[in-house]
Amino acid sequence: MKDITVGVVADGGAAGWLRVLAQEGIAHQIADIPDSPVVLVSGRSPAWLEAYVAKGGVAVVSGARQLPFDIDDAGSAVVSGFETPVGGRFCAAPGLVTRFPGAGEGVLRLHEDRIVKYGSDPDRFPVVLSRRIGAGAIVYSGVALTELLMAQGDRLRAFCEFTEVTERVAAVDKADVADTLLHMLRLGFQRAGLPMVRLPRFPGGARSVFILRVDVDGAYAPHTQNLVDAARAANLPASFYVNADLSSRFPGLPDSWPAEFEVGQHAQAHTLFDTYEENLANLKEGRAWVEARVGRDVTSFVAPRGMWNASLGEALAQIGYSYSSEFGLDFDSLPFRAEGGILQVPVHPYSPERASRWAEERGVTPPGGEETRDYFLAVMRRQLALGRPMHVYGHPEVLGGMADTVVPAMAAFALREQTPCLTLGAYAAFWQRREEAYPTVRYDLAAGTLQASPADSSLPLIIEVWEPTNVRVRERETRLPAGTTLIEENT
Ligand SMILES: [Zn+2]
Repeated sequence: MKDITVGVVADGGAAGWLRVLAQEGIAHQIADIPDSPVVLVSGRSPAWLEAYVAKGGVAVVSGARQLPFDIDDAGSAVVSGFETPVGGRFCAAPGLVTRFPGAGEGVLRLHEDRIVKYGSDPDRFPVVLSRRIGAGAIVYSGVALTELLMAQGDRLRAFCEFTEVTERVAAVDKADVADTLLHMLRLGFQRAGLPMVRLPRFPGGARSVFILRVDVDGAYAPHTQNLVDAARAANLPASFYVNADLSSRFPGLPDSWPAEFEVGQHAQAHTLFDTYEENLANLKEGRAWVEARVGRDVTSFVAPRGMWNASLGEALAQIGYSYSSEFGLDFDSLPFRAEGGILQVPVHPYSPERASRWAEERGVTPPGGEETRDYFLAVMRRQLALGRPMHVYGHPEVLGGMADTVVPAMAAFALREQTPCLTLGAYAAFWQRREEAYPTVRYDLAAGTLQASPADSSLPLIIEVWEPTNVRVRERETRLPAGTTLIEENT
C-alpha cells in the first residue's frame, strides 16, 4: 500500500497551499523530493518537475512562470481580479499575472470593465489550465493565488454582490481565491486518477454552520438586551464581544447573560495599535472591564474595526486567547491559522450600522429591518451553497433596534437547512479538534484497493470521486475508479 499524501514544495507560496490543505483536512507533507502522486508548487518550477511529470506525477502550479514542456505564456498583465472557475464569481485579486493562452476555466481579462462591441471581446485568458504530459499532467494558473491568499492589506471597497455598501475589508476576495486553489487541487487528483479524501467542514456532516456575532460598540439600552432576548427565544446561542470604552459611553449591558451564550471582549480602546505592548495593554484593560461587568471569565476576543496585524497576534497568544476574527484580514472564508498561530474564524463584513452610515453619506434612506433581514438571508443562502460558514455580525446600535425582525428569521433559516447554530467559540473548538484529525489514505494500484482511515471517528471522511471525463465533483460518493475496492476503517 502506498500513501496518498499530497507533497507541498517549500517555495514562496507554500503557506497558501498549506492553508487550503488544512482547510479541507487533506493529508500532506512538505516534499522537496517528489514521491507523492500530486505535488503543489508556486511560482517557478523546481528542476525535477519535468522528470517527475514525465514519469506520471501530477504537478499543480499556482502563479506559474516559465513553465517547462514548451508551455509558452503571452506575457504579463496587471489586473484587478478574475472570474473564478467556480461558478464564475468575480474575485478581487489585484496584481501582476502571467497570461497563458489556450483552453481552460475561469476568465482573466487584459481589458477590464469593457462593453462588448461588434461581438468582439478580445484578449481573454483562462485562469486555470491543464495539460497531460507523458504519463503525468500539469495543472497551472498564471495568477499567484497562493500568495494572494496569504497577503495582508485592507481597503475601503464593495465586498458582496448583494449590496453596494462599502467596508474596510481585505483587498483580496480570499474565499474565492481559496475556492479556485481547491478547484486546481481537485483537478490534480482527477488527473492522477485518485479520489480526494477530506474532512467535513462542519459538525455532523452539516452543509454549513450559523454563527451570530454582536460587537457591543456601546450597549444602547435596551438594544443589547433585545438582541439577547431575540436570540434566546430563537434557541440561538449568540456571541457578544464587548468594547469597554464605547460601552461606558453608551451604557445598558444586560444584568445577566444566558449560560450558553459567548461573552468575549472587543478591547478597551476601539482600535488596533502598532506595537505588541500597546495591543497587549488594550487587551488586558478590555478583559478586566468586561469581566467586572459580566461576572465571568472572558477568554475570547475580536478586534475593533476588523483590523489585524502581527503584533496583535502576538498579544493574543500572550494573553492566552486561541482564536479571533478580523475582516481586514479575510472574510466569508473557512477558518485558518494567521501568522503567529491564532485561529481566524472569518465573518461576513456587512453590518447594519455601516450600511446606515453609508446611506446617510449618500442622502438615501438607511435599510430597515425587513431589508436587513432579506440581505442577511441572501448572504446565508449563498454561503450555504458555496459550503462556507454562515457567520454574520452587527451591533446593538442599529441591529438591536430590529432584533425581532432579523434574528428569528435567520435562526429559522438555519433550522430549516439543518445547519447547527454555534457560538464563535464552539465552531473554533470544532475546527481545532479537526486540525488533529487528518485521515491517512493508502492505495494499492496493483490490487485496486483504496484504504481511508479517519483519525477521529466522529469526523466521517468525505471521499470525492469523479469520472475521468468530467471535472464535476460528486461528494459523498463511494464509487471508485473501475476495479477499486474501498476500505473505510473505524467509521
Ligand atoms: Zn467594533
